[in-house]
Amino acid sequence: MTKRIERFLAEQKPPTPCLVMDLDVVADNYRRLRAAVPHAGIYYAVKANPAPEILTLLDKMGSSFDTASVNEIDMVLATGAKADRISYGNTIKKKEDVAQAFKRGVTLYAFDSDAELAKIADAAPGSRVFCRILTSNANADWPLSRKFGCDVQMAKTLLLEAAKRDVVPVGVSFHVGSQQRDPSQWDIAVEQAAWLFRQCEEKGVMLSMLNIGGGFPTRYRRTVPGLKTYGVAVQDSLSKHFGNRIPEIVVEPGRQLVGSAGVIQTEVVLISKKSDGDRKSWVYLDIGKFGGLAETMDEAIQYPIVSTRTGQPMPVALAGPTCDSADILYEKADYTLPADLAIGDRLEIRAAGAYTTTYASVAFNGFEPIKTYCI
Ligand SMILES: *Cc1c(COP(=O)(O)O)cnc(C)c1O
Repeated sequence: MTKRIERFLAEQKPPTPCLVMDLDVVADNYRRLRAAVPHAGIYYAVKANPAPEILTLLDKMGSSFDTASVNEIDMVLATGAKADRISYGNTIKKKEDVAQAFKRGVTLYAFDSDAELAKIADAAPGSRVFCRILTSNANADWPLSRKFGCDVQMAKTLLLEAAKRDVVPVGVSFHVGSQQRDPSQWDIAVEQAAWLFRQCEEKGVMLSMLNIGGGFPTRYRRTVPGLKTYGVAVQDSLSKHFGNRIPEIVVEPGRQLVGSAGVIQTEVVLISKKSDGDRKSWVYLDIGKFGGLAETMDEAIQYPIVSTRTGQPMPVALAGPTCDSADILYEKADYTLPADLAIGDRLEIRAAGAYTTTYASVAFNGFEPIKTYCI
């Protein structure tokens, strides 16, 4: 919670639920990442929060952009950023979308299969391509495993194959899982990438770029290691496996840049119990899983939820307002709220700047998507 957000909420009293983003915090997060990985190209993962004000700010600060669809590419271009600062990092693209991206000047594409490589070679000839490899995603609160990437043997075959087609194989990418709490996870994937670089070089294909993905965390309820620790772990790992031939490094931060910059304000709609003897109270909010808090799935991401009341802590289950029983935020995690909490109170859901607005449904049960205010 920042002073600016506090003042905005007190003065403007916007209807709830709403997300307020403090752009100063985004800028600060960008500078901290810049310092932690000074030599890396920063490609903001647009999906984390594509608010035009955020894209414009990051463009001004020199960021590049990781996109997953033609719409995201258009959002970035609308800020005035040039297409050469855009990577089309989704490994699952329609051929027509590759063609549309290419028409807009995008020439950097991810792939993890032969069929995807064929689409890129056909629809975006001459482009640079990088192959995503599988990683375990251990110790990540929001894993991105199994679905993306191929094993290193297949990656080798694909990169060598790419060299024979009308594209330029430039490197390797991976993602260690989002909200990765363990900085040592990068080392496993960097080692595999270095092996791939050597294997390709032996066959005369010189790779030049290593994309080490996102995964840098936001502080939620649990503490996480500082960003510097991640920077040091990555640098040590690169030196260990690449020696003095470290390639061009790319990072794709999403959560780290915007998570801590946003606060969702929500209203308490109902407080009730399921039986007279119930220890837990059920607190129903005007935002839930379908209104933007999808990452509460399996209670994976645990946002700090704060009331200004001062009563004794009361154990609660928290749920959203929709007519779907999947719309429970936290039932197992030990959340408490002050016992004097009342219907109509406003609560703050902190560190909610990443993966909230984009995950909101269009209008399930008639509830409108959450509104964003950038200040
Ligand atoms: C989602 C995503 C990111 C951003 O991940 P964070 O954990 O939010 O930093 C980066 N790269 C790719 C390919 C992604 O899909």
